[in-house]
Amino acid sequence: MRIDPIGEFKGVVLIVVPHMDDAVLACGGTIALLPQKDQIHVVYATDGNASPAPLVPWCDSVSPDLGDIRVRESKAAMSHLGVPEENLEFLSLPEGKLDRSNKWLISTLQETVERINPSHILMPFRYDRHADHLALNNAITLACKAGDYQGNLLEYFVYYRCRLLPAGDIRAYIHPQYLLEVRTEDVSARKREALERFESQITRFYAWQTRPNLTSQLLDEVSRSPELFLRYDASVPGPAVFDRWATWIRLAHRLEPALKKRKDLLAALWARGLSRKDRMSA
Ligand SMILES: [Zn+2]
Repeated sequence: MRIDPIGEFKGVVLIVVPHMDDAVLACGGTIALLPQKDQIHVVYATDGNASPAPLVPWCDSVSPDLGDIRVRESKAAMSHLGVPEENLEFLSLPEGKLDRSNKWLISTLQETVERINPSHILMPFRYDRHADHLALNNAITLACKAGDYQGNLLEYFVYYRCRLLPAGDIRAYIHPQYLLEVRTEDVSARKREALERFESQITRFYAWQTRPNLTSQLLDEVSRSPELFLRYDASVPGPAVFDRWATWIRLAHRLEPALKKRKDLLAALWARGLSRKDRMSA
């Protein structure tokens, strides 16, 4: 269902994200369209120290400054969209291991929701590909349940491409009655500019990277496309939102991250000209 975000997202909006660029990737156009910027709050769960992550861990060096750089990039991106810096909170939990902080995360999010008292909470999609996104979806829904939150919960989409599904996009399998669509073409340039603040993600931050985390092609796609949201309803759990292929989607959801990791490793090794023989002798 196509919606007017100004009418839909009245009042305080809380966006909970695992990583620094997620809020702009998934909701940047909606943020740009909303008039009440001072009522938009963003909670960043992780410290940002692990992305870009080494593809070949035994030879790729990492920078201790990456997390600080990404915090600065988030502030610059949100400033470009008009969200005040005092509305941004950084929980600094270890990136890639969010599920290990589950208990602390749930109680902290419950406290945050009670303090900010949002009318709407935007959270990661329940079948996102990234483990941190799934951990945060789980934590915020449990926090809302524990605090008897009465507002609207919606799921946003960061990783929605799935090569193991014929349509290639997991959102195509969600029953339309649960999906909200925000047209963002009037603010697509602004969203693109905000994404360009994430220099560590849109360039090869490390010399060993074969490509940026966020390619120019991806930035174009997410800036030009409408933003979709899944209306969360506790009575429609997990795969019940899909109108077909639910069993295969659950299987593909488990397989896709492992396949991607393997593909990325092989691509990295290939790019460095490391043959199998070289690796055996290293
Ligand atoms: Zn993320």
